[in-house]
Amino acid sequence: MTLRELKVCLLGDTGVGKSSIVWRFVEDNFDPNINPTIGASFMTKTVQYQNELHKFLIWDTAGQERDSFQTLKNWVKELRQHGPPNIVVAIAGNKCDLSDAREVSEKDAKDYADSIHAIFVETSAKNAININEVFIEISQRIPVLDAGGGAAGNGFKLRRRPSETRTRTCC
Ligand code: GDP
Ligand code: MG
Repeated sequence: MTLRELKVCLLGDTGVGKSSIVWRFVEDNFDPNINPTIGASFMTKTVQYQNELHKFLIWDTAGQERDSFQTLKNWVKELRQHGPPNIVVAIAGNKCDLSDAREVSEKDAKDYADSIHAIFVETSAKNAININEVFIEISQRIPVLDAGGGAAGNGFKLRRRPSETRTRTCC
């Protein structure tokens, strides 16, 4: 089985639920009193995807601004200008459990995501809606390894198949 390391960086305004999404994905838990992220935190989780193991190396950042849809667009611009060419962009419209407080319609968000060829999923870290699905969709968009096991990604062969693993470090 091939192990591939996928770097994931969560970007977005303070309070949108980035840390809660990571917590739900890695620990399958939700903490309503989660501490604000200072600087950045790092966690990993390894999941099987088809005949590969995908180890997500997740960087969770501290956001600052407070106009989340505009901030998203600014980040996408930055990523297009300065990020690697084969980057996978996934937009999580989080807190979908709070539908009464919706500020961006699903259609506007979906149209924008389509226009930049990004994954779009409405999520709830609180109610565990679509959190795993975001990461599965990222796995699906990662280019397949070529037959030699090299060029398209950083994969390496494992002799044994480890069970799902999780680690976390905070700073
Ligand atoms: P971050 O600053 O983007 O990392 O956001 P946090 O993960 O710290 O979450 C900010 C606040 O939103 C906290 O009070 C969370 O409990 C809450 N929150 C996060 N995700 C959800 C969600 O899916 N639904 C609801 N209702 N609240 C959420
Ligand atoms: Mg945070």
